[in-house]
Amino acid sequence: MSIPQIGIISPCYNEALVLNETSMRLTSILEELISKNSISENSFIAFIDDGSTDSTWKSIEENSKKYSHVKGLKLAKNVGHQNALLAGLLTYKDEADALISIDADLQDDVIVIEEMINKFSQGTDVVYGVRKERKKDSFFKRNTALLFYRLMKKMRVNLVYNHADFRLCSKRVLNALDEYGEVNLFIRGIIPTIGFNQDVVYYDRLERLAGKSKYSFFKMVSFAWNGITSFSNYPLRLVTIIGFVIFFLCLLMSGYALFGLYTGNYVPGWLSTVLPMYFLGGVQLFCFGIIGEYIGKIYSEVKKRPRYFIDKKID
Ligand code: UDP
Ligand code: MG
Repeated sequence: MSIPQIGIISPCYNEALVLNETSMRLTSILEELISKNSISENSFIAFIDDGSTDSTWKSIEENSKKYSHVKGLKLAKNVGHQNALLAGLLTYKDEADALISIDADLQDDVIVIEEMINKFSQGTDVVYGVRKERKKDSFFKRNTALLFYRLMKKMRVNLVYNHADFRLCSKRVLNALDEYGEVNLFIRGIIPTIGFNQDVVYYDRLERLAGKSKYSFFKMVSFAWNGITSFSNYPLRLVTIIGFVIFFLCLLMSGYALFGLYTGNYVPGWLSTVLPMYFLGGVQLFCFGIIGEYIGKIYSEVKKRPRYFIDKKID
């Protein structure tokens, strides 16, 4: 392959405090790689302003004047990290051979960018940045994040453990991503399902350069929930299972009650009040679950996700 053109995509929401530093660091990395002939001269950095309310856009404009490799894209309003990232990836996919996504606060170590590009040059299509450890995160963040991955695994969502959105994707992977027409796109879950050659590089998660995290606890919960519900029908199946279990317990209880009736050891009225409640509850949940299974099928049909992508073709 000739020298690849690489784009770095960085979504920013109220990141005015970090943008100068980030532009400087990313530019120096690009320049170093260009001088080593690892990437082409026209490689670039694109900041995606996700409807910031501070001077983020002004800072992007200033940095693009200062550094020739810096570009900017301003979204009409705040659409959230995942959508901002998607906007960046889809806008710039035709302008580079591969795009690397990275958070603007540079919590992901830029050192491994070179390794990512090397792997790409050797024919890897997706290179995931995976965190080695989370020493710098707060106790709360570290443990909620681990819980997140465990939960996702339980819910059958295909995720790369300890990987956020720091990754390199080749053009054909980005073209594949473009074929997913769904509104709630959970990029982190989609990429592993696309396939092609995938690999990982390891790095230490650093502290934010400046400013505050934009992911509050509630945003994280909603993020996790979005991930689960856009990938798995497991919660629907859970309803069926709970319904069945309650129904089964109800049968056991009937046996117990009949036994009480037989031995004369029972409270009058208990049986006729409590038993129908459990029985109906169980039957109802079970029926909901069955309806849910069908809704699940409809849901996956409605999403119309592409079923395969062609890796190689010999003519
Ligand atoms: N971000 C965004 N839109 C949002 C929230 C966040 O583009 O609505 C960006 C943010 O500027 C940063 C990245 O997403 O570049 C990750 O956010 P943050 O660092 O706040 O998350 P954390 O690292 O704490 O999980
Ligand atoms: Mg961050």
